[in-house]
Amino acid sequence: MCVTCGCSDTASRPDTEVLLLEERVLAKNDHLAAHTRASLAAEGIVALNVMSSPGAGKTSLLERTIREREDTTFAVIEGDQETSFDADRIRAAGARAVQVNTGAGCHLDADMVHRAVHELAPKPGSVLFVENVGNLVCPALFDLGERAKVVVISVTEGDDKPLKYPHMFAAADLVVVNKTDLMPYVDFDVDQLAKHARSLNPGIDVLPLSVRSGERIDEWYGWLDRTCRTT
Ligand code: MG
Repeated sequence: MCVTCGCSDTASRPDTEVLLLEERVLAKNDHLAAHTRASLAAEGIVALNVMSSPGAGKTSLLERTIREREDTTFAVIEGDQETSFDADRIRAAGARAVQVNTGAGCHLDADMVHRAVHELAPKPGSVLFVENVGNLVCPALFDLGERAKVVVISVTEGDDKPLKYPHMFAAADLVVVNKTDLMPYVDFDVDQLAKHARSLNPGIDVLPLSVRSGERIDEWYGWLDRTCRTT
């Protein structure tokens, strides 16, 4: 993996010294992520790492969840290269949010999340969404201290994505297939998507829904409740 972005750039890998440095970077990341996971668990806070390509509907899913699940306290760490658009949307929906801008970076890492958790100070017993930078490559490789990883894919993206971006789907606990309201207009086969995802990750849950229409959104809340109850 590339030291700067975490991508699997083996073509430009010059020597074993670089390999050792990459291993140290990831080991440091995993150590800090473990610290964050333990700190959050001690406060009864459940962190979920939400990933997707840009425009799949991560922020929309979180907005609707925050608005509809008034019995739950949410906090959100928003990762984007630039702007605070998404943190503004989350605050307007009623939850506290911290925006992390990664500049040229293509993913959040454990250090960014650790600092953001301290700034945000989520309430004990709350759900902490970490909305990662939009892409299906680098975010899959970095543990952030989350309890579970959610990948969101929309029906406009194509059902072959698990085979093209296997690390993401191998790492995820749940695939949310969003924008099912657009199914009449696209060639997307949910069964094919599920088959491809399970060829990489047999235990993965696949949940088609529409954030916009609300179709099967209750099943997302059910998954959320079950995941938060797991200790
Ligand atoms: Mg977003």
